[in-house]
Amino acid sequence: MTAVERHLLSDNTAVGADGMLTVGGCSVADVAAEYGTPVFVYDEAHLRSRCREAVGAFGPERVIYATKAFLCRAMARLAYDEGLLLDVASGGELHVAMSAGVPASACTLHGNNKSVAELRQAITAGVRHIIVDSFDELDRLDMLAAEGCGPTPQVVLRITPGVSAHTHEFIATGQDDSKFGFNLGNGDAVKAVDRARRSTSVDLVGVHCHIGSNVFEASSFAKAAEVMANFAVPLDLPELVLGGGLGVAYVAGEEAPTITQWGNVLLDACDALGVRSRVSVEPGRSIAAAAAMTIYTVGTIKTIPGVRTYVSVDGGMSDNPRPVLYGSGYESFLPRAVDAPRDLTARLVGKHCESGDVLSFEARLPTDIAVGDLLAMPVTGAYGQSMGSNYNKITRPPVVFCADGDAKLVVRRETFDDLLATDIYP
Ligand SMILES: *Cc1c(COP(=O)(O)O)cnc(C)c1O
Repeated sequence: MTAVERHLLSDNTAVGADGMLTVGGCSVADVAAEYGTPVFVYDEAHLRSRCREAVGAFGPERVIYATKAFLCRAMARLAYDEGLLLDVASGGELHVAMSAGVPASACTLHGNNKSVAELRQAITAGVRHIIVDSFDELDRLDMLAAEGCGPTPQVVLRITPGVSAHTHEFIATGQDDSKFGFNLGNGDAVKAVDRARRSTSVDLVGVHCHIGSNVFEASSFAKAAEVMANFAVPLDLPELVLGGGLGVAYVAGEEAPTITQWGNVLLDACDALGVRSRVSVEPGRSIAAAAAMTIYTVGTIKTIPGVRTYVSVDGGMSDNPRPVLYGSGYESFLPRAVDAPRDLTARLVGKHCESGDVLSFEARLPTDIAVGDLLAMPVTGAYGQSMGSNYNKITRPPVVFCADGDAKLVVRRETFDDLLATDIYP
């Protein structure tokens, strides 16, 4: 069977003279030797290039990076320096973004159940917009205004447009049956707009929708843009936010629209319907996913004749829960043999104490794979590190940004002492 498709690797990858994969001019073997495995290796120029593509497609101050995809201070700063605003979905994400020197005025706050404390934090800090998700949240904002918490926040209402995106049920958010937003179909959206317009505790500046994540079909976006445009045009508010959700190719044969194509679909739909608001978007996955790969070390290979082969690596569901959560597929290959045929089919698993700890159900790998080999899993830059855990008290892996031959540690590996940092013991 075939080698890994090179287009699944980040932009600045190559094979060095010694046959070893390089990312941003850094040998993956050197990065692994220096920082250990597992390690998240980001191609920094790839991240920057996707940010620039998005700003090129939508315009400055119209691209809001969804930090939940991947957030550390280096990433917050990179996105901000490339001209993106930041979408944060908790007080913690806001704190990390601001700790990187990103002003609150460049951050928008999301969440279907924001606490009073998070709303107070956001208002006091002066976030750009609060994306209001429910009537209860409007109540909380009234209460905060009555308390004298200010300045009066600019708010955008999250609308559930009743559009079903073709994606996994857990990451589809635009259908009527959703915990998110004000439903358009049952009249809640109109009620929320009326209430926010009359309110003195908030300043209504726009409407928002986000139909889901890892969406491949331009037609789903066009449909949502059309529904939202029809709702938004008569309101004549300054902002229309169309969310994120652009899918990326994870495995052989998948093909997603580019950010530029996505921009064309959304902006054409808005133009056609006479939208005069500023149209902005909130990409996460399409900025970060393909920029990184996880490098593991193979530790155990177990062949059960007539059943299957298990290849175990030194990470697993704690650094990438997506296969377990959504049954997501990933490719894998050996950085020492990037273009080698992969004739072995094996189940690629982690080191956690449960059988569900799978990274790839049907991994294709070279037949000469051996204990001690480095193994690379591409397209792990979004919803991997950010969804990671300490299950089994595994210390979370480091994050390294590689560019121009320089490997920069931006998140260090956790230590055993980090595991005790919050543990109170007499
Ligand atoms: C998760 C999320 C995004 C980003 O989605 P991607 O699929 O990563 O692009 C954008 N907006 C909202 C409101 C989200 O919840």
